[in-house]
Amino acid sequence: MELELVTIGNELLLGFTLDTNTAELATALNAVGVRLVRSTTVADTPDAIRDAVRDALARTGFVVTTGGLGPTRDDVTKKVVADLFGAPLDLDAEYLEELRKRFERLGRGPMSEKNRSQAEIPRGAVALQNPRGTAPGVWLEGPPGVVVMLPGVPHEMRGLLETELVPRLVRRMAGSDTTVTRSRLLRTTGIAESSLADELEGVDERIAPVTLAYLPSLEGVDLRLTAWHMAAAAADAALEDAVQAILPLLGRRYYAEADGDLAAVVLDGLGRAGHRLATAESCTGGLLGERITAIGGSSAVYVGGVVAYANEVKGGVLEVSPDILERHGAVSEEVARAMARGVAERLGVSAAMAVTGVAGPGGGTPDKPVGTVYVAARLGDADRVVRLGLSGDRDAVRRRSAQAALDLLRGLLARSVGAEDPGLAG
Ligand code: ATP
Ligand code: MG
Repeated sequence: MELELVTIGNELLLGFTLDTNTAELATALNAVGVRLVRSTTVADTPDAIRDAVRDALARTGFVVTTGGLGPTRDDVTKKVVADLFGAPLDLDAEYLEELRKRFERLGRGPMSEKNRSQAEIPRGAVALQNPRGTAPGVWLEGPPGVVVMLPGVPHEMRGLLETELVPRLVRRMAGSDTTVTRSRLLRTTGIAESSLADELEGVDERIAPVTLAYLPSLEGVDLRLTAWHMAAAAADAALEDAVQAILPLLGRRYYAEADGDLAAVVLDGLGRAGHRLATAESCTGGLLGERITAIGGSSAVYVGGVVAYANEVKGGVLEVSPDILERHGAVSEEVARAMARGVAERLGVSAAMAVTGVAGPGGGTPDKPVGTVYVAARLGDADRVVRLGLSGDRDAVRRRSAQAALDLLRGLLARSVGAEDPGLAG
C-alpha cells in the first residue's frame, strides 16, 4: 500500500518550524507496511492546498495531510478538501456540545464562535477523536480516493496517528500480503565514525539484506539497522540477528538502544552499585547537571554540583589548592582530578565527574588550543582523567565534553562492577 503526505503551513516553508510530522509519519507508516512515496509541503492558502491534494490523489489515491485544522482564518484544509470531494460541511451538533463542555471543564471560559468550525465535518466523512486538542481528525473517502486530515500540532498528530490512523490502515490491509520496513538503532560514543567503520569492516555483507547507516552527532555515532520490505516477523528476526552480529564488535562503545541516554545508563549503574553522584563543572557551566537531572528519578543518585567557573570557586569551594592552579593552570589534568575529589568530599558522595577546558572561541594557547578539555571521573578511591582535543564551536565542545565525562564514569563503573554486571561490561 502506498500513500502521499501533504504537510501544510507557512511556518514550515519559512523554516521557523521544523517538519517533524513527516518524519514521524514516515517511520510509523513504514513500520506497518505502508510506503510513503512522496511528501509535499505547501503554504496555508486554499490554492496551494487544493493543488497539492488533488495532484497527490491523482497519483496515489491516498493522501494524509497535517495542519490547518484549527479554528483560525489560516486553517482552511477541511473546507478545501471537502470541496475537492464535492462534499458540503455539516455541523456535528453532538461534537459541538462536547466541545462546549470541554471548554467549561478546562475553565477556559465560554467557547469562541470560531471553534464552531471545528465541529464541522465534510458529509460522509468520519471524525477521528482527538482528546489532546479541539480539532478532530477527518477521514474522507469518495470517488477521488481517501484523504485523512490530521492536526498540525505534533503531539496531537502523534496521538491520532497511533490511535486512529495506524489501526485503520492495518485493518484495511488485513488479508493482503504486506511487507514492512523496520529499524533498530544502536548508540555508541567515544569513537569516531571512521574508526567505527574500520571496526565494522565486512559486517555489511554479514547482516545483508539488513542495511547499516552511520548517524554521527555530538553525542556519538548511532547505527541504524534497517530491514526493508519484509514480512513483519522476518524483519524482526533479521534485525535481531544483525544486532547480535554487531554488538560484540562494538564492545563497550555501545551504551543503549533507540533513544536511550548515556546519563540514564550511568545513573542506573551508579544506583545499582549504591553510589551517589556529584558534579564539578567549569567550561560546561552546568550542562552535566542538566543532562543528569533531565532523567526522571535522578534524585535517587544525584545530589548536586558546583559550577566552578572562576579560580576563586575552584579554590574556595572545591578546595583545589592554589599551588596546583598556579603550577598547572585551570585547564589541566591535576585541576580536573582535584575538582572531582573536591566536590565528592564537599558533598559527601562516592562518585563524581569534573570538567575543565577551553570551549572557545577565545582563550586558546599553543599547548592548550581551543577544544582542549580535561574530564575527570571518580568512583570510591579510583579516579581517571582524560585529555580531549575536541573540534567544533563552543556549543559542540561543551556538549561533547559532558558526554565524554559521562562515558568516563561509565568506564570506571564497568571496571568496578563489570564482572557481575554484563550490562555495563564489554
Ligand atoms: P491548531 O488547532 O493549533 O491551529 P492546526 O491543525 O491548525 O492546529 P497548524 O495551525 O497548521 O495546525 O499548526 C499548529 C502548530 O503545529 C504550528 O504552529 C507548528 O508549530 C506545528 N506544526 C504544524 N505542522 C507541523 C509539522 N509538519 N511538523 C512539526 N510541527 C508542525
Ligand atoms: Mg492552526
